[in-house]
Amino acid sequence: MSRKPVLPGQVMASGQMATLGVMGGGQLGRMFVQAAQEMGYFTAVLDADPASPAGLVSHYHIQTPYEDEQGLAQLMQRSEAITTEFENVPAPALMTLGAHRPVAPAAQAVAVAQDRIAEKAHFVACAQAGGVGPAPYAAIDNEALLNAVPADLLPGILKTARLGYDGKGQIRVPDRAALAAAWEQMGRVPCVLEKLLPLKDELSVIVARGADGQIVHFPPQRNLHRDGILAVTEVFEGNLPAPLAQQAVASTRAIAEQLKYVGVLCVEYFVIDDGSAEGALVVNEMAPRPHNSGHYTLNACDVSQFELQVRAMAGLPLVQPRQHSPAIMLNLLGDLWFGPEGQARTPDWAAVLALPGTHLHLYGKLSARAGRKMGHLNITAATVEQAQATARQAAALLGIAPWA
Ligand code: ATP
Ligand code: MG
Repeated sequence: MSRKPVLPGQVMASGQMATLGVMGGGQLGRMFVQAAQEMGYFTAVLDADPASPAGLVSHYHIQTPYEDEQGLAQLMQRSEAITTEFENVPAPALMTLGAHRPVAPAAQAVAVAQDRIAEKAHFVACAQAGGVGPAPYAAIDNEALLNAVPADLLPGILKTARLGYDGKGQIRVPDRAALAAAWEQMGRVPCVLEKLLPLKDELSVIVARGADGQIVHFPPQRNLHRDGILAVTEVFEGNLPAPLAQQAVASTRAIAEQLKYVGVLCVEYFVIDDGSAEGALVVNEMAPRPHNSGHYTLNACDVSQFELQVRAMAGLPLVQPRQHSPAIMLNLLGDLWFGPEGQARTPDWAAVLALPGTHLHLYGKLSARAGRKMGHLNITAATVEQAQATARQAAALLGIAPWA
């Protein structure tokens, strides 16, 4: 399908500047808005929170819940095309919008990513076509399925099918008794039990696909998680064994293609220890939007994941990104806003910014909490060694624990 692009800076028949809309006002929406504005678009954000990070910097901010009919009508009236920054935007709301405006990604693709059971079924279908498969798993949404879980899925991780993020909605279960208790604790909602795998590494791949089927990708990101939350992303030549990196890119492209996906898609993978030197790839989950592990693209690539989101939704050409610098991203969690005795503080940005190649991105959140994503620090350098040295210095200044 091809359609006329919404050109940046275009004055529409209504007399209004070409405006791009986004469902959700978090930090991903904020960076989308900033990318759209840089190119000359006006922006509209729908998010009920008057202090949402994206709402604060957008031309228009519609402050209603996601399913509010008037809010959706206002967003459609303002916007030539609409995207989403939050994967739990109710799919019916996207369906309503999609009936009147180009919406990228489409409700049906977002619906797959919102439900771990549908998501895994999609991965299995892609694996049958030669792609990378998911961890062994079982869907559980009734007592009979709970009792029928094969023993070799234990020890495992029970994950709610919907609404989990940053490790929330997950319980590790060593045995059947723990599994039954965990499902009870989850309120007997639909869940997926996944076999607990021996992880060597974690990585992610971000692709962008246009309505015309054109598809481009960023290099695979190596991700370190702490307490279920992304902590560090490293992207440079040699960050991962080349065969695994190539396989992950091919798999991600296939996952996007088979969904006829339009927009930016991130797929997360595990590298598991299968006894081989390099390990084997397993697909974990996907995010129907730009991803935390792609924030380095703002400073290390000639086109960022947010600009590709803008281009894909506006019907503009996509270009294959070129990473021009080795990059390391440090997530800045709210924990850094508290001293050793729990006293509130502002991290010493002046000291961090004295290091060449550091790029600070804060999301405009007024209150810090432990585990809350407040911003990120991108580090770029001419060489991998220099990027690593600077990242370690910055981490030490901020109180981020060292990593391998
Ligand atoms: P996100 O914030 O990425 O959406 P999430 O809450 O949806 O996270 P997952 O990505 O499923 O959760 O899991 C979070 C982390 O827990 C993973 O990055 C990985 O470190 C660990 N993990 C998840 N599943 C498994 C598994 N089957 N075996 C081993 N470790 C796992
Ligand atoms: Mg994850």
